[in-house]
Amino acid sequence: MDVPRKIKQIIEPQFVIEGAGVLLRRSFGPNRANLFDPFLLFDHFAFNDPIEGPIRGFPTHPHRGIETVTYMLEGNVRHRDSLGNAGVIGPGDVQWMTSGRGILHEEMPRRGPSGLIIGFQLWVNLPAAQKMSQPRYQEINAESIPMIEENGAKVRVVAGEYHGVTGPVTEIAARPLYLDVALEGGAQIHLSLAAGHFALAYVFEGEGLFGESGQSEEFVQAVRMLVLGEGDSLDVQAGRGSGVRFMLMAGAPIREPIFPYGPFVMNTQEEIQQALLDLRNGTFVQN
Ligand code: FE
Repeated sequence: MDVPRKIKQIIEPQFVIEGAGVLLRRSFGPNRANLFDPFLLFDHFAFNDPIEGPIRGFPTHPHRGIETVTYMLEGNVRHRDSLGNAGVIGPGDVQWMTSGRGILHEEMPRRGPSGLIIGFQLWVNLPAAQKMSQPRYQEINAESIPMIEENGAKVRVVAGEYHGVTGPVTEIAARPLYLDVALEGGAQIHLSLAAGHFALAYVFEGEGLFGESGQSEEFVQAVRMLVLGEGDSLDVQAGRGSGVRFMLMAGAPIREPIFPYGPFVMNTQEEIQQALLDLRNGTFVQN
């Protein structure tokens, strides 16, 4: 049985300023209503205007109780953390960071040769049993992310499975699917999505028909976040001229109450107070 998903909600990302003055397009952020369970936040870095002067980044800040997923298309992000990890997330790379009980890190975006910085940061919730786990990084180079190309479609599999190919990011509580999908003008694709998983499509280039056999007749134009309804697949047809490119993400809802506070997402207010206390006492990060 194949139940095609339809668009349930269309979100227009809003410009927000985060870190030391970084302009982002935010589709949604952490909220006690937890409407996007297991996802908590989706930001799009897109510095498309020639800005004079240095690009401000995200100076040292903590995380607890979540996973941050950075996927870059252009430019890069240099990162460094309190546990001695450091590196560069370049074009096509992904960093899937499980903060667990705590890390302190900085993330500094830098322009690529094109002068652009384009990338995404997704936050994924952790279940209560893993919120205080050891921090863990999965840093995947662009070459290690499989790409499947057929019938005018290019699909990069970061996490989860597409056409029997499994992405390199593994052992994540939310059992996520994270795909970068590019369709040429007029191309179509049929994507499997686990029934019962929450699913989103972030349309960031071009336009396409999203929904039941591409029959919705309403072209969705970039830039939009689509919340998908129930079902176990998604049909997309690219616009004739432009093609379309989108991030497809899905995951198993964690179904626990959440209490977000800045870069922390815990289950209760007491756990947030503990995180602040740990920061003050210098016991936030444990090697
Ligand atoms: Fe961060």
